[in-house]
Amino acid sequence: MEFCPECGAMMLPSNGVLKCNKCGYSNDMGSDDEYKLSRDIKAENTVKNLGEDIDVGPVTNETCPECGNDKATYKMLQTRSADEAPTRIFTCTKCKHTWRAYD
Ligand SMILES: [Zn+2]
Ligand SMILES: [Zn+2]
Repeated sequence: MEFCPECGAMMLPSNGVLKCNKCGYSNDMGSDDEYKLSRDIKAENTVKNLGEDIDVGPVTNETCPECGNDKATYKMLQTRSADEAPTRIFTCTKCKHTWRAYD
């Protein structure tokens, strides 16, 4: 999804260029390869940004008690006592709510 740098509206591809459907601003996409490349870089940046504010762990099917989203990342937290099972900390992928689960 691309947004117009002029007015922030959604931009749609039209005849090889991205065109703002609100103010008419258009951005030459250049070759398809170049367009793909910039999209790849964007995807990479998104992942990096996510990594900055939450601990990204494996995604599991766990229902968030806050928003009902059924995907959460989790990480193991070893408790001090060796006989206790490690605690799992879940982080909702949607609302970022975190909670613990004990096995
Ligand atoms: Zn615009
Ligand atoms: Zn949630």
